[in-house]
Amino acid sequence: MIIMKSEATKEEVASVVKEIKKFGLKADVSRGEFRTVIGLIGDERRADFSHFATLPGVKEAFMVESPYKLISKEYGKRFDGEGERRQIRVGDVTIGGDELAIIAGPCTVEGKSQLFRIAEEVKKAGAQILRGGIFKPRSSVHSFQGLGANGREGAEEALRWLYEAGQRFEMPVVTEVRGEAQIDLVASYADIIQVGARNMYNQDLLASVARAGKPVFFKRHFGAGIDEFLSFAEYMAAEGNKDIILCERGILPLGKGKNYTRYTLDLSAIPAIQKETYLPVVADPSHATGRRDLIFNMSCAAVAAGASGLMIEAHYDPSEAMVDGMQMITPDELKEVISACRKIHKLVAAKNEAKVVNG
Ligand code: PEP
Ligand code: MN
Repeated sequence: MIIMKSEATKEEVASVVKEIKKFGLKADVSRGEFRTVIGLIGDERRADFSHFATLPGVKEAFMVESPYKLISKEYGKRFDGEGERRQIRVGDVTIGGDELAIIAGPCTVEGKSQLFRIAEEVKKAGAQILRGGIFKPRSSVHSFQGLGANGREGAEEALRWLYEAGQRFEMPVVTEVRGEAQIDLVASYADIIQVGARNMYNQDLLASVARAGKPVFFKRHFGAGIDEFLSFAEYMAAEGNKDIILCERGILPLGKGKNYTRYTLDLSAIPAIQKETYLPVVADPSHATGRRDLIFNMSCAAVAAGASGLMIEAHYDPSEAMVDGMQMITPDELKEVISACRKIHKLVAAKNEAKVVNG
């Protein structure tokens, strides 16, 4: 990591970047309000830090041996002075800001009227971002794969509905890409690109998604440790995209008996991740539990644990849904969840603020 002096010029920053490249490394230049910080990408052991320290405009140069440094709290602190939480703005919505961000919608886009009706109803219930799967990562090839499977035209039609529903009901939209070939198309309609749990380890996909330049909704793999989750988020940060929303969506349950839930929502991961990184964390109680009767409690718990937002699957008639009906709640139920969670979020935010004020 190289910290520039506050008065360092653009030319000085550019010549430091040039020197970094001589060592076969890439540079991540972060310009904060008060100073510029440069993160080295690649094997830092190749670099000569004592040389960097002598370059004009450099205040400090030192090695950080961590698999995730560009998204670390420490790095955030260096360039914006605080580094507490990155606020990711999408349209009028901020994720990681003062307000709890609610993402809701169907598991899967099944048709225009289904999507528009759900969009209207979740918006009324208080959701700010609309979700809807088009390229679905199903366990069985024989299950409905989403309208994305209907060739480019089918996919584009569904993406257009999603975009139009977002426009009509004033919500940014998020949908998943399952493979690299879908990125350009999805990026031209979606405000946020989702990388699903099963693709968390796909480095090439992550780099390409990051380069699309849109905020990324990044889901933790159900078998991944927190360190791995953050290390793979770093692949996107290394492409210069730090608008990464981390999503805790449940990990594999332990034991050989019946677990009664689809996965285990890793509640303690939420504050633990928040101590490591400035990126916001959103919880997905829908995929974590697989049970609509648990959504209220687990949403409240996730927000109490410090989540910056929730992703919840909702449908006017969950029994009609082609995918994940058993975990979907109705818009009326969503309204109750949102109302309770907003209160909890205020309490938790007040506690965090008090901590900062008290030093
Ligand atoms: C989803 O959000 O639509 C989804 C399939 O979730 P996950 O990748 O977490 O299983
Ligand atoms: Mn689903």
